[in-house]
Amino acid sequence: SAKADPILRADGIRRSFGGLTAVDVEHLEVQRGTITALIGPNGAGKSTLFNLLTGFDRADAGGWSFQGRKLNGVAGHKVARRGMVRTFQLTKALTRLTVLENMLLAAPGQTGERFAGSFARWMWAGQEAANRERALELLARFKLDTKRDDIAGSLSGGQRKLLEMARSLMVDPSMVMLDEPMAGVNPALVQSLLEHITALRDEGTTVLFVEHDMDVIMGISDWIVVLAQGRVIAEGRPADIRSNNEVIDAYLGA
Ligand code: ADP
Ligand code: MG
Repeated sequence: SAKADPILRADGIRRSFGGLTAVDVEHLEVQRGTITALIGPNGAGKSTLFNLLTGFDRADAGGWSFQGRKLNGVAGHKVARRGMVRTFQLTKALTRLTVLENMLLAAPGQTGERFAGSFARWMWAGQEAANRERALELLARFKLDTKRDDIAGSLSGGQRKLLEMARSLMVDPSMVMLDEPMAGVNPALVQSLLEHITALRDEGTTVLFVEHDMDVIMGISDWIVVLAQGRVIAEGRPADIRSNNEVIDAYLGA
């Protein structure tokens, strides 16, 4: 439904794999400055929708815009530069690097073009110092500063999730997309992740996240979008979703 100040608007997004329609979203808006949960049974198309919106998969049809600018067709690394980032699980290669190296690799400019010449090198040195400063600030915020020289592969499951979130913030995004940020995390760290998500929203960052735990979803979401078999079957405030029979059926019928 229409939002007062949507940061993201999408229309007619479709993606099929063979004969299977994974995503068929007629209309979706994400209100700026909110925590919006995307929920739905396994296989509903949540991750596929994230991949499409962030340029890591190609839609068969549809258009979407971020902060008023067309975003469909824009490549993944450029989407991040526009201010919309999603978290990624640390790849095997990244687990061999230190925590700080992981942060620096997520900095702006790492995937983009480099310029030749002494002025560019001087500019680059300034950027590198700024990146390092931001990385250290974020590591402190996520209580990973004492781990900065540890190999990322040595972190616990929960600490990895914190690092994934911290990495995504290196580009100073307007919106972060978190795909099951709490999966496999022990309860103590779940609480800490929830506080980080709420803090991001309170600072003005828009959050769109996928989660299964209903207590978590109901506890921190401002708005909930329910996906089933690729379609948005309901959306609303937590209290409305909790009492929506269609939503209950989608879960129980899955
Ligand atoms: P969710 O994240 O909601 O659990 P997904 O987006 O991962 O769901 O998957 C939606 C549907 O699309 C599922 O049926 C899944 O098997 C299928 N699917 C996802 N990615 C691919 C792919 N790369 N190739 C074939 N089928 C896929
Ligand atoms: Mg998924």
